[in-house]
Amino acid sequence: MRIFQLAILMFILNSLDTHAQQLSSIENKVASYVDEHLPAAIELLKQTTNINSGTLNVEGVKKVGEIFGKELQKAGFNTTWIHLPDSLKRAGHLVATRTGNKGKKIFIIGHLDTVFEPDMPANPFRMINDSTATGQGVNDMKGGDVILILALQALNHYGLLEGSDITVYFTGDEERAGHPVSVSRADFIERAKRCDVALGYEGATATNIVATARRGASSWLLEIFSKQGHSSGIFSDYSGYGAIYEAARIINEFRTTLSTEKYLTFNPGLIVGGTEVTYNENKASANVIGKDNIISPAAIVHGDLRFLTADQKDKAREVMKEIVAKNLNGTRSKITFYDGIPSMAPTEGNNQLLNIINQVSIDMGMGATKAGDPGSRGAGDISYVAEFLDCVDGLGAMGMGAHAPGETIYLKTIPFLSKRTAILINRLVQAK
Ligand SMILES: [Zn+2]
Repeated sequence: MRIFQLAILMFILNSLDTHAQQLSSIENKVASYVDEHLPAAIELLKQTTNINSGTLNVEGVKKVGEIFGKELQKAGFNTTWIHLPDSLKRAGHLVATRTGNKGKKIFIIGHLDTVFEPDMPANPFRMINDSTATGQGVNDMKGGDVILILALQALNHYGLLEGSDITVYFTGDEERAGHPVSVSRADFIERAKRCDVALGYEGATATNIVATARRGASSWLLEIFSKQGHSSGIFSDYSGYGAIYEAARIINEFRTTLSTEKYLTFNPGLIVGGTEVTYNENKASANVIGKDNIISPAAIVHGDLRFLTADQKDKAREVMKEIVAKNLNGTRSKITFYDGIPSMAPTEGNNQLLNIINQVSIDMGMGATKAGDPGSRGAGDISYVAEFLDCVDGLGAMGMGAHAPGETIYLKTIPFLSKRTAILINRLVQAK
């Protein structure tokens, strides 16, 4: 028994030994730099949080971009502003670059905007207790931007970015991408394509969880037409069932056929039916006239469709089309699908990147880092480029309530998250 226990103990010690390397001396110096410069980083977070940068507030987004741009210059980056056509009504994007041929080419994603527009109640940066702060965008994602900037400044201070090839891309409209996306994300996608790995600074649900996959979002519009007639004739061969029964049949069959498939969701967000129906998609509003004694000739349903892979999306659309085509007597339907944000599908490359991050946190003595549940995340900017390079997201700030008034950031997690980023980037730069 004792020998058996000893064998287990030896096994545990051995496995710890092989996995838990220490940080190198330069990595330890970088970590100390992060600790020493934490007060300045929190000051930067406070300063940028107190500038409203709602996506539609072009001036505010530019102002935040200017401040972050100067900080990235201090880390040895060249910065440039990507302008978008006026018709998009968006501020544009901040891009900071270093060019070289050492290690992996790294594409880093942040954003300058928040969901809070100037006409919403202000929420200046404020400490709630000794370790938690609130403010607009403090978590999503000015906190993530600051974590990254501090890490890059630490690496630059020790000359560790010499020869590296890094693009930092802070979009100005992550929360409401300018339309068409083919214009607002054109430069973003082009620059990502020439890189090897992408690191996203959206928030984390826990300090030991990152995202190796994110679901994509798309939508569908179902239009149903039917014979109009007196209600007393409904269900008869002559009058048929009307558009409203057909709408109910279709969406119920969507649910019974597809709702148990993992990572696939579809939500009918609006339904209208009657004798006269008008739907204004831009205003998300509809008008309808109908009477209980008239078989309804028209119905409209608008919904979303979220998926983990393009294949899952395509297959779901095929099944939905088949369901739509099984018209009830007297009805005719049309479903149209619209692409939104692609998914960041789970890949072997993403997992390898996770392994590097995992090793960094083990070497820091912080235990393993794991991939979170892709079903828990919405779509983000990284999804536009995920098919071109290896990606990990969720490297940003930790806090609660993103997109809600009173969102918070746990300031005590910043040092670990920033050091983890610095050591990760260093290892990617030094990689053969
Ligand atoms: Zn965000």
